[in-house]
Amino acid sequence: MLGSGRNKDFAMDTEKRLQKVLSRRNLRMTTERQEILEAVSRMQNHFTVSDLIRQLKSNGGTAGRSTVYRAIPHLIEAKIIRRASMSCSKEEQRYEGINSLHHHDHLTCEMCGEIVEFEDKEIERLQRQVAQKYGYRLTRHFLELRGICKKCQDKIIEEAVGV
Ligand SMILES: [Zn+2]
Ligand SMILES: [Zn+2]
Repeated sequence: MLGSGRNKDFAMDTEKRLQKVLSRRNLRMTTERQEILEAVSRMQNHFTVSDLIRQLKSNGGTAGRSTVYRAIPHLIEAKIIRRASMSCSKEEQRYEGINSLHHHDHLTCEMCGEIVEFEDKEIERLQRQVAQKYGYRLTRHFLELRGICKKCQDKIIEEAVGV
């Protein structure tokens, strides 16, 4: 998670990494891209592009929606953020900062998009076991369980009975 406790070294490091990715595509580090990077570093937990834009605007940033969307793949490639869910909708897709991220998996609500982070030693062990069975040495995994959170379940029941 990119928290408020980040230091200057970290900010310089992410900027360098983004610069590297951009230069591979003959792109420059513009003021707008810098604004986006700054906004990303202030995001907590899991965020949508709209959350990021709100943060950017509250910092006085001027980068538009399409500029932010175009910057996302670069931020992923620079390993500054990663997808936090496998949502098919661009609007609902959530991201999270990678730096100082401890390993965890996600449980995502299909209705409201809430994400719960969890780590289960037994699941981790079983994943290694599956990889081993097929002669793989595991380097990483992405596990997302999808469902409907308690709050949304209650809402469905309320609507059904017309409370
Ligand atoms: Zn929900
Ligand atoms: Zn997460």
